[in-house]
Amino acid sequence: MIVAIDGPSGSGKSSVAREVARRCGLTYLDTGAMYRSVAFACLERGVDPEDDAATADVARAISIEFLASEGGQRVLADGQDVTAQIRTPEVERAVSPVSANPAVREAMVAEQRRFGASGDVIAEGRDIGTVVFPNADVKVFLSASPEARARRRAVQRGGGDLARGVDAAVDPAAERAVLDDLVRRDAYDSSRAASPLRAADDAHRIDSSELSFEEVVQAVIALSPELGARAEKGQR
Ligand code: C5P
Repeated sequence: MIVAIDGPSGSGKSSVAREVARRCGLTYLDTGAMYRSVAFACLERGVDPEDDAATADVARAISIEFLASEGGQRVLADGQDVTAQIRTPEVERAVSPVSANPAVREAMVAEQRRFGASGDVIAEGRDIGTVVFPNADVKVFLSASPEARARRRAVQRGGGDLARGVDAAVDPAAERAVLDDLVRRDAYDSSRAASPLRAADDAHRIDSSELSFEEVVQAVIALSPELGARAEKGQR
């Protein structure tokens, strides 16, 4: 089965998709990590993220793999572990123009579909339900207020994880910077011509601003009898 989760940055998509994957025996596909890996490779090679021809070449040539490990999934780009490097502010700045390039998207979407053909997958991103897997069995559009999303990201950067109930002290200026960056990336992702961020017509919308992590996970599983059965089986 294929489960598609789309939504803006910091809506909790990654944590929720990872947890639903674990409970329901699905393979987790983090498509944002793929665009981030391309952006990182461009920066490493001195390729201008705004240079569409050159970034497309990088995207077509790159080999991205996901490795399960004890500490969570690792991302390998051309054999190099880039798990930490793709989360830096430099990559975050470069990823918007890179992912707005239709040729880059074409290369990534082809890879994502290959991944989906391999079995039971929960994929998370911006265009999963609209472009990558329009026939997904379950589609979710997860959103939250900008303030709630900025708080989660800022706590994450401070070493906490609100999804797990672990808070962390956050400098208000840092939280403000995260909020500004989220708003900027959302505007870019939503207004670009190629696969803008939007909910598929048949997506189930969940607003996580006032929900706990567990409530969101339960709400996603409740959308499909197959997910419910898988989760139950996993607990036995
Ligand atoms: O989800 P994450 O924050 O890791 O995504 C990083 C960036 O990759 C997003 O801001 C967006 O520009 C791009 N992206 C995309 N399509 C996807 C997933 C991510 O354009 N399916």
